Amino acid sequence: MRIIRTIAEVRAAVGEAKRGGKTVGLVPTMGAFHAGHLSLMREARKNNDLVVVSLFVNPTQFGPNEDLSRYPRDEARDAAMADEQGADILFAPEPAEIYPDGFATTIHIAGITDVLDGASRGAHHFDGVAAVVAKLFGIVAPDVAYFGQKDAQQVLVVRRLVRDLNLDVRIEACPIVREADGLAMSSRNVYLDPEARRRATALNRALDAAQALADTGERDTGALTAAAGAILADAGITPEYLELRDTETLRPVVRLDGEALLAVAANVGAARLIDNHILRSADRRGDA
Ligand code: AMP
Repeated sequence: MRIIRTIAEVRAAVGEAKRGGKTVGLVPTMGAFHAGHLSLMREARKNNDLVVVSLFVNPTQFGPNEDLSRYPRDEARDAAMADEQGADILFAPEPAEIYPDGFATTIHIAGITDVLDGASRGAHHFDGVAAVVAKLFGIVAPDVAYFGQKDAQQVLVVRRLVRDLNLDVRIEACPIVREADGLAMSSRNVYLDPEARRRATALNRALDAAQALADTGERDTGALTAAAGAILADAGITPEYLELRDTETLRPVVRLDGEALLAVAANVGAARLIDNHILRSADRRGDA
């Protein structure tokens, strides 16, 4: 595996592969790899001739009071892990390579970014995500790019970006990888002390409780989110949001009919965590 820091070099390497008729898969990441990242790399490896993993802690998607400066970074460990998954290139640019002086473009995707993490973290978050993803697509020109369903709203934002700007890339969303006790894997889980780590399992248990209630035939959004909220409250967690929304438009859902996205964000100890399940109404269970 090659570690590449410049846009020119990654373009040259990908260009050569493409001229040889090779397909290119891209896995965009911010590093601090865990099994969730590795699952995307494996999927990319299975389906492409050249696998590029990007490692860039994108400053523009962090707010002034967020964790940019303390975000976990360990490039040597990440490089070894990406290599082990069979990645061909680790593209790890410096911030100035991606945002040179004078960078002046904003990409704002209206509507779906007004809610959930867009509302909680502010518009800058998904503007930053859209800009860096658009740039990575421009730099690497992948055939396919791999994202995790853990960041369900991000997947929708990226799909909208691709459709609206006619970008020639296919987006693959991969399932959420969890710890044995159900906690969704996240680079931010390292912020959890043992007590917060135990409480953090409440997020997934809360989402499970909503599905269990839906399985009894309950469809009312208030009842379903209350079931989830009770589990969070038991663990002393006050969510930033806990909402049932349409899986495509993210509009609020008042009654579960078919499937809908139940998404949660909460501060647990020193970590801001997110998780989600696709809830299915009782008549749709078994469809998955
Ligand atoms: P990040 O480094 O946190 O920006 O994540 C890079 C990619 O990995 C994103 O597409 C995430 O959605 C995905 N990802 C993060 N955590 C998980 C997880 N637990 N399961 C599956 N994908 C994940």
